[in-house]
Amino acid sequence: MAYDSNNIFAKILRGEIPCDKVYESDHSLAFKDINPQAPVHTLVIPKGAYVSFDDFSEKASDAEVLDYIRTIGVVAREAGVAEDGYRILANIGQNGFQEVPHLHVHIFGGQHLGRMIKPFDKS
Ligand code: AMP
Repeated sequence: MAYDSNNIFAKILRGEIPCDKVYESDHSLAFKDINPQAPVHTLVIPKGAYVSFDDFSEKASDAEVLDYIRTIGVVAREAGVAEDGYRILANIGQNGFQEVPHLHVHIFGGQHLGRMIKPFDKS
């Protein structure tokens, strides 16, 4: 999928719309999800134009990949969820129900999160 530079996270990165920023590094930005699904619900995005995790892992520089992985950990620790546990989740593409076509990892925490996903129908 080609990158659409009009997606909402690209607009946040360009400063065209605001976000509730919690952390910023050279190559990554973290901000609160506008529609939180848990007491802690933060999004971490790379600043580069990558649609998905596979796009990012294929095309991003080592510096960007390192920065992104480290940022996810920093944000989890600073949000205070590292000790009790949390969930990171990236929805990718149509089957993954990705709504915003700029790579983002959700960090959920602050409560027991239940099972990962609903069991699928094996029949
Ligand atoms: P996904 O389904 O993984 O693509 O999730 C997109 C997420 O982006 C959703 O959880 C939305 O609530 C969130 N979102 C959409 N617009 C904004 C925004 N302007 N600021 C913060 N979060 C947003």
